[in-house]
Amino acid sequence: MALLPEPINELLAALNKLPGIGPRSAERLALAQAIVQARERIRSCPVCGALTEQTPCAICADPRRDESLVCVVERPVDILSIEKAASFRGKFHVLGGRISPLNGVEPEDLRIAELETRLGCEPIKEIILALATDVEGDATSFYLAKRLAAKGVKVTRIAHGLPAGSGLEFADELTLSRALEGRREL
Ligand code: ZN
Repeated sequence: MALLPEPINELLAALNKLPGIGPRSAERLALAQAIVQARERIRSCPVCGALTEQTPCAICADPRRDESLVCVVERPVDILSIEKAASFRGKFHVLGGRISPLNGVEPEDLRIAELETRLGCEPIKEIILALATDVEGDATSFYLAKRLAAKGVKVTRIAHGLPAGSGLEFADELTLSRALEGRREL
């Protein structure tokens, strides 16, 4: 996992050796812990919002990635889930959550304006929404589809088949690959 900052890799390796901690729990624990321990070194990529030690992050800086495709996820950890599925060669954008009026999360609290800025300066042709499949995920996807359509970009959403009401980290790699392949235009 060369894409992860080294302090996170080290922590993941250590956590995976502990009994009772599965790889997914280890990832979450490692990320949470690494953020606390390595605050000085790890920051948000100013372009996509991923966690990184370099600016921009390794994915944003990689010329082999397809710049015309941007996959929108809720959290930095979701990038790892999709990278493990390994079928996606585009770039990412971290939203920072989903619209949730009950929890006081409005569209302006998310990194939507940053995504619109990218649309203005990157050759993006398609935005793939990979948000959770629950009511708030649905509402956020439709809000984004409407707002981004005004910018003239194709907006698709990954296919259903992901566990209902859960985030990307609970999807196995094959399911996630198929969900990406079977994406539909919104
Ligand atoms: Zn980035």
